[in-house]
Amino acid sequence: MSYTANQKRYETMVYNRCGKSGLKLPKISLGLWHNFGSVDDFENGRKMLLRSFDLGITHFDLANNYGPEGGSAETNFGRILKKDLMPYRNELIISTKAGHYMWPGPYGEWGSRKYLLASLNDSLKRMGLDYVDIFYSHRPDPQTPLEETMGALDSAVRQGKALYAGISSYSAQQTSQAADILKALGTPCLIHQPSYSMLDRWVEGGLLDVLEEKGIGCIAFCPLAQGMLTNKYLHGIPENSRAAKEHGFLQRSQITAQLVEKATKLNEIAKARGQSLAQMALVWVLRGNRVTSALIGASKVEQIEDCLKALEKPELSPAELKSIEQILSV
Ligand code: NDP
Repeated sequence: MSYTANQKRYETMVYNRCGKSGLKLPKISLGLWHNFGSVDDFENGRKMLLRSFDLGITHFDLANNYGPEGGSAETNFGRILKKDLMPYRNELIISTKAGHYMWPGPYGEWGSRKYLLASLNDSLKRMGLDYVDIFYSHRPDPQTPLEETMGALDSAVRQGKALYAGISSYSAQQTSQAADILKALGTPCLIHQPSYSMLDRWVEGGLLDVLEEKGIGCIAFCPLAQGMLTNKYLHGIPENSRAAKEHGFLQRSQITAQLVEKATKLNEIAKARGQSLAQMALVWVLRGNRVTSALIGASKVEQIEDCLKALEKPELSPAELKSIEQILSV
């Protein structure tokens, strides 16, 4: 069946400006790290992407190595673009990254110009695209001069293979330096992609301040802590959950009694708000307008629908925030 997008897709989603750029991103974006690889059900991935777009999610985040096997999420995404979404290409923000291991030898990971630009060419081929909207350095490389890595991002933009440049998991200090280099090259740093959730708050130690000061957007990855900030693990590890899957990044050993206790208490606050824990975790990450977009993952259409309802409830009250802090501080 051919796909026609929902005509009402822009009626409910909220779009935030990404830093001081001209680009707006949906408050909730979808990442293809898990559940879109060659080991996964292709039709399920396709349904999730099309439903997301129908609900106003215009931004899909990939990386060269997403799968497993590495590269297969981009290949599958390319198949879905070709089959369904290419007529809507101008309405989509597609990102990819290079930084983690992709191929053997000295040029298959980290931050050299050689690796970044070769990898971007491969990503474009796998997705069947002329350009991506955002190209990221996926992680800082302690051994490559920052000037070289940022120079490669600038080249990608100048070659028309990416519209914007981004960085991921750079510290506050590295971000400040990277932003200055990119600015001097004439390709401003659009966005930073750090991990951020109630269980992982490193960005509060300076990075968010740097992003604000430099006018860089922030897209928070793993806002649900890979599912730990949902009701999924409250009563054990369900079959088919990420923690149960052999190729999932989340380990069974991470589902500790302490985590379950915390999640159970947080879930009580969520219930009192009339929300699922996933929804409250997203409202929390997006509080105070310092985060442009929360970058979720999903294994089912219903999870995406559930997450988007986060936007229907009011912000967390000071009393709710205080109760959450108390639970997190233990
Ligand atoms: P999340 O923290 O949002 O976790 C997603 C998982 O949570 C889903 O796979 C699902 O688990 C569960 N879930 C989602 N919604 C619900 C719901 N409503 N109810 C119950 N369970 C739910 O994000 P991810 O860890 O998937 O990461 C998101 C994206 O962030 C990635 O796809 C990628 O684009 C990006 N990322 C970037 C990194 C970087 O280095 N830049 C690193 C990691 C991620 P289950 O599968 O068990 O059903």
